[in-house]
Amino acid sequence: MPEAGALVTYGNVRNSKHSVMRTPIRKRIKGAIGRVAGSTGMLTWRYRSKMLIVAFHRVSDAMPEDHLTHSSAKFEEYCKFFRTHFRVIPLAEQVAGCAAANDLRGTLSITLDDGYRDNFEVAAPILRKLNLPATFFVITGFIGTQSVAPWDRQLPQQPGWMDWDQLRSLASQGFDIGCHTDSHIDLGTADERTVRTDLEVSTRKLHEQLGRPARLFAYPFGGRKNISARSLNLVREAGFSCCVSSYGGVNLPTTSPFELNRIPIARGYETPDRLGFDMAFGRIRTV
Ligand SMILES: [Zn+2]
Repeated sequence: MPEAGALVTYGNVRNSKHSVMRTPIRKRIKGAIGRVAGSTGMLTWRYRSKMLIVAFHRVSDAMPEDHLTHSSAKFEEYCKFFRTHFRVIPLAEQVAGCAAANDLRGTLSITLDDGYRDNFEVAAPILRKLNLPATFFVITGFIGTQSVAPWDRQLPQQPGWMDWDQLRSLASQGFDIGCHTDSHIDLGTADERTVRTDLEVSTRKLHEQLGRPARLFAYPFGGRKNISARSLNLVREAGFSCCVSSYGGVNLPTTSPFELNRIPIARGYETPDRLGFDMAFGRIRTV
């Protein structure tokens, strides 16, 4: 899951002082403007020199939409929006391209965090149907267990986690499986030994279970404060080729793979057109 701040502020950062303006009518107007911006090619033009990475969590019709959950219809709507306005490629290709200084302008990659079971049951079939690549960042200690994440304790019914067979199936379908630590620790505050141990356990499980090392890493909570310079070094030492955050922002093709930022598709973006509005008017910062 992303940092707590991102859940409530992202997408409405500049409106936070003007909550009175956050009316359904205003949102509808923004959505309509975003739709026009998309249909006129403005989004493609504005992001022609940028590289985007988006982050989802749950895709489910079995629970109400919330800051981590999108319905299957909404997720599909977003995916079609991405496909229309960007060249959707795997995150691994963006990372490799950064290192090789390839032309990644106008590309977007799709990621899903934590490893919820609906990722396999609901999100993956939609991605396959639309022929879109994606990376699933999983918390290895939760895979195949009944663990309840601290942020999910209030849910009336637990969404559940994928198991290793499902992850192997996703990998065989061409999706990437990335590391999101073993226990979703905060790499901004954990001590060196804890971080080392967690990364060792997580990388070992992924390698053993999937038959190849995971190269992509997304740090838990994703905020600026949720990773320290020391932890970032440990991520590099563990052999990962990137370390992506999740506090919102687009990247330049020259951005370091260890400083890549993602746009969390969370509360604040009720529709792709609302995201389109923020994109069209430059409300999403560049790293
Ligand atoms: Zn997470």
